Amino acid sequence: MTYRLPTAVPPEQGESLPGLIMRNAARYRFQEPGRVLRRLRPPKVILVTLCQTDPAGPLGVVMRDVLGLDEAQWARLAMGTADDTTVRLNGHVVWREQARLDSRTVCPACLADSPHHRAVWFLDALPVCAVHGTRLLSACPDCGRQLKWRGPGVHLCGSRACRYDLRRAEAERVPDGELGGVRAVHRLFHCDAPATGAPLGLGFGDTLRLSVTLGHLAQGMEKVNRLAGFVRKHQAEVHRYVDDGWRALDGWPNGFHRFLDGLKARARERRGKGGLAKAFGTFSSKVSAWSREPWGAPIGEAFAAYAAAQDDLAVNAYVLGRYGSVDALRHRHMSMSEAAKTLGVGPETMQRLAERRNLYILPPNGSGIPSLVKAAEIRRLRDEMADLLLPEEARLTLNVGRKVFEKLEAAGVVSRVAEGERVLEIRPFRRSAVEGLVAACRGTAPKVSDAEARQRGLWTMAATTAPGREPPDVCRALADGRLRAAALVEGQRGLKGIRLDPAEVEQVLPVARVTLSAVEVGEMLGVHYQHVLHWARRGLMGTVPSGGPDEVGMRFSRGTVDAFRAEFILGGELARMDAEGGRANGALTRHLRFMGVPMVSGPGAGDGGKLAVFRRADITPEVLARVEQVRQRRAIPTRELRQRGWERVALAGDTIGRVWGARLRRVNNRFTDEATGRVVQVVSGRRPDLTGVFVFNVQRESLDLLRRAADAWVALVPNQGDTFLLLPLAEVRWRGTGTAHHVTVRFDGRGQPTEMERFAVPLVLPAAEAA
Ligand SMILES: [Zn+2]
Ligand SMILES: [Zn+2]
Repeated sequence: MTYRLPTAVPPEQGESLPGLIMRNAARYRFQEPGRVLRRLRPPKVILVTLCQTDPAGPLGVVMRDVLGLDEAQWARLAMGTADDTTVRLNGHVVWREQARLDSRTVCPACLADSPHHRAVWFLDALPVCAVHGTRLLSACPDCGRQLKWRGPGVHLCGSRACRYDLRRAEAERVPDGELGGVRAVHRLFHCDAPATGAPLGLGFGDTLRLSVTLGHLAQGMEKVNRLAGFVRKHQAEVHRYVDDGWRALDGWPNGFHRFLDGLKARARERRGKGGLAKAFGTFSSKVSAWSREPWGAPIGEAFAAYAAAQDDLAVNAYVLGRYGSVDALRHRHMSMSEAAKTLGVGPETMQRLAERRNLYILPPNGSGIPSLVKAAEIRRLRDEMADLLLPEEARLTLNVGRKVFEKLEAAGVVSRVAEGERVLEIRPFRRSAVEGLVAACRGTAPKVSDAEARQRGLWTMAATTAPGREPPDVCRALADGRLRAAALVEGQRGLKGIRLDPAEVEQVLPVARVTLSAVEVGEMLGVHYQHVLHWARRGLMGTVPSGGPDEVGMRFSRGTVDAFRAEFILGGELARMDAEGGRANGALTRHLRFMGVPMVSGPGAGDGGKLAVFRRADITPEVLARVEQVRQRRAIPTRELRQRGWERVALAGDTIGRVWGARLRRVNNRFTDEATGRVVQVVSGRRPDLTGVFVFNVQRESLDLLRRAADAWVALVPNQGDTFLLLPLAEVRWRGTGTAHHVTVRFDGRGQPTEMERFAVPLVLPAAEAA
């Protein structure tokens, strides 16, 4: 039969074992509460040590019986565990160092409610009462002594001299907003199965310790070596750490991510180049240790998942693997060989791609650790690549030959993706763009057989080709909708199957002639094409190379025609200039020739040309004015001309006398040197028209008379100008029959003979006329 206290005090809710013992002892007015257990013959140890005895051991069982407790009550009250590094409080196993067992910490207001000691007051990390929001007391406010497990009541100061009633003490209030964590932990402490209510299903002790740890890290205190010592030293603030820590755990894992964001935000303040230690500080090594424990595994896992999601964090899967399984990373990371396989490219290409596209999470660092790339990016690239074509694939999609494909690309009808935006150099075309072009060109034309298309005389794309109309032009017109496919041939893909209506093609895309034929140039100039060919052969008009197989013979361009027109002037244009004067066609041409303006081509140029061509630069206003002047002189009256003729004959006679150095006797128009018998017949001449040709008429009998002389000469004197011809009679080829004979001599606009020039003699003019 075991001993039992006759009037054992039943335990209160959440009461501590030393507190219950103390209350029982108070009934017997024991100063030393342990005395109530004396019948058990306990070892000589202080009360709280005794309370930590193995609850299932012999002493424990006896203690339970003495206090009159049932199994459930004992399970809550017993403090002992099989391990001396832990202690049980209200049924929760916590680390020994988390509890301050030797001190009798109290809340005055709680004691006022009910004078029993609450087990939760043992917890070092909860120095605030969650019920009243006030600081707990661990020393008597009156005498200042530490409250120990002694004295006649848990509500009284243990000092025999003091015995202060702690229920009267004023306790310091803590701001309500800082108590969230304390209240939450307090709730867990008093629930039957805290693991079901705690974040991550953690035990109470782990939850409390984690709260404190995460809390002080969140506050930026990263260099804490021994948590218990730290908590004891920071009693004034520890409720705030619990609050911050609880926030990190509550609403898992969002609070935890906010906590990690906070750590990462302070990365700059930490030393080191990079990696987890730089980003998360000492937390990274703590969590690494935790993740090896069963309770810490979910934290390690959550941390690894978070870190893996940080693109700016260069860590490899093996490092992150220390924190948990790499399952989370599989979705984030890919090895280079996995990525190359996904994209269907070789290892070198994969490497270039990773560099160019910044795909690395862990770039190659030469340490032998495999590099990692961003899996999501690789999958996105794979989708993008499915839309990219090799040039050959693009050509086959269009279903055109290589030459045509080159032309389409050169014309920009199909274009390559800009070099910087290409996933792969070798795949420069976008499938959607190429297929879109084909669809736009084909349109919704009816399907026909090839034979039917031929029968209707429809053109293939190739058949539309003409100088100045290339496949790209036709393609563009089809894509723009200016031109519509007339039909699509069954079984022919791409552009090859398109058939076009020739008339529509000619209308929409008329072929601009590249070159002109001689006939066309002749039409432009209003002359027969033979003249054009003659000018081209003489090099007066340039030619151009043929523009195509259907352009035969000499070819000209607008440019060459314009150049010809700019340099040369034709008789036709001169005639039009003259037309208003009512003169005959060709008059101006003749007059210009007479004025000595050189003819480039035509009758006067001796080049075989039949149309007069002058150099435009020669037909100056001065030249035209002189032509006009010459024309005016024709209006001189005949009588005056006769008078003038007589005078000019006399003048010529004088001149000849000087040339011969002889005195000449004049009979009519015949002059004789008496000394030698030399005779000269002066024949005056005139122009029948405004040409350079002067006609000299002489009577038959005058000529006969002259022929009888031994030394006979003729002077051919034009009725204008200052030069005449003096020549032996034998040199003159007289023409004509009957009584009148004549000879013609060509003179130019300046009055100089252009034939028999060696007989020219300057006329010595009278002083008045010379001036
Ligand atoms: Zn309280
Ligand atoms: Zn006191």
